Amino acid sequence: NKTNTKSAELYERAKRVMPGGNTRTTVFRTPHQFYAQRGDGCRITDVDGNVRIDAVGNFTALIHGYGNKRILDAARSQIEVGPCYGMSTESEIRLSELLCERLPSVEQLRYTNSGTEAVMNAIKAARAYTGRSKIAKCEGAYHGTYDPAEVSQDAGPSTWGDIEKPKSVPTAKGTPQGVLDDIVVIPFNNVTVAEKILRAEGHALAAVLVDVMPNRAGLVPARPDFLAMLRRVTREFGALLILDEVITFRLGYNGAQGRFDADPDFTTLGKVIGGGFPIGAIGGRAEVMSVFDPSKGAPAVPHGGTFSANPMSMMCGIAAVEELTPEAFEKLENLGHRFEHGVRQLFQMHGVDGQVTGIGSLRRVHMTNAPLSDYRSTFAAAEGPQRVAALARALFDEGVMIAGNGLMAFSTPMRKDDIDEILSGFDRALKTVAAH
Ligand code: PMP
Repeated sequence: NKTNTKSAELYERAKRVMPGGNTRTTVFRTPHQFYAQRGDGCRITDVDGNVRIDAVGNFTALIHGYGNKRILDAARSQIEVGPCYGMSTESEIRLSELLCERLPSVEQLRYTNSGTEAVMNAIKAARAYTGRSKIAKCEGAYHGTYDPAEVSQDAGPSTWGDIEKPKSVPTAKGTPQGVLDDIVVIPFNNVTVAEKILRAEGHALAAVLVDVMPNRAGLVPARPDFLAMLRRVTREFGALLILDEVITFRLGYNGAQGRFDADPDFTTLGKVIGGGFPIGAIGGRAEVMSVFDPSKGAPAVPHGGTFSANPMSMMCGIAAVEELTPEAFEKLENLGHRFEHGVRQLFQMHGVDGQVTGIGSLRRVHMTNAPLSDYRSTFAAAEGPQRVAALARALFDEGVMIAGNGLMAFSTPMRKDDIDEILSGFDRALKTVAAH
């Protein structure tokens, strides 16, 4: 039986020096947060010595779990000679070569320290390139916390507006009206309505920002005709298409764009490409990436960053990406299938409404049988979100860590047995949840 004394004590200390005792809202929990001590393979031990199987991997970033030998070697050898310098390093070239080779639409890249900054720079680049200010994004999709990117991301139904014209709703209080006015919100996967909205704004649009499988909008894959429409309409109006692969790069050897046959102008990356270290990247064709080029005078978009392309992230990123072989992807895919199949049976067995969305190693559990296609259907699914949060808590108590919204990510150190361990955690947790 688990005790949480040390986590509770640490939280008391934290409350004095951090608002709500917290510095990262995504890991906040009541009555207190849990504090990690160490990770091994696909397991994480907290400060009270409780061991759990980690089925989310720092919100999908740790595709190789903890203690991957090549990543450890890369980190050790780099730290010995310095964590970062006010100079470039060869490692940034190598990581770029690797990513360009894999991502069909990417000829050149630049690095940041987070996915948020990658999206921010892609938006700035699109505005600079087109000379326009409006950005279209899908309702409910999360793209980090840059003002324009976080609009209409987590607001309740009362603010949504008509589906024919979803409102541009602030996420952070105080978001300037000017920012809201520049965001065009489209419904995910609704080809007819989204196209109509985009056409009405066409000549003012700098870019459409899209994730092929937006987590917070349900982790439902984009319909091929939806993506095709976005590409067609952006081309017609001279707007750019930004594909946010911060989470979805892990869907295949050629990223989400390979899997979904997407042909974006800009791609944003993060998470797994840093091997567990902070990272973000913006990539695209050389022609659009030239807005960042400082070699011919002041660039259209100046982009620096004290820790951008720091060699710790680059070296560990190289190791992590190189370890993502076709065989590794096949393994991750199989783990995902085993989970999906198993958890479906468990929902049935326990007579609990539920389903799994996502692809391959990226999954999300929902506690509803209603069809999910976009943000509104996901959000509106009865008490779905609260029930999922209760399930996540029950799983945590049973030794399985998933995100509070049901997001899960499998990692290369996992074996079939680990998926079965996760499933037996679900078996016990579903019993608890079904009883309420
Ligand atoms: N885009 C997407 C699709 C994301 O899921 C996230 C983070 N979960 C971000 C951008 C922002 O990345 P970061 O947390 O590294 O700033």
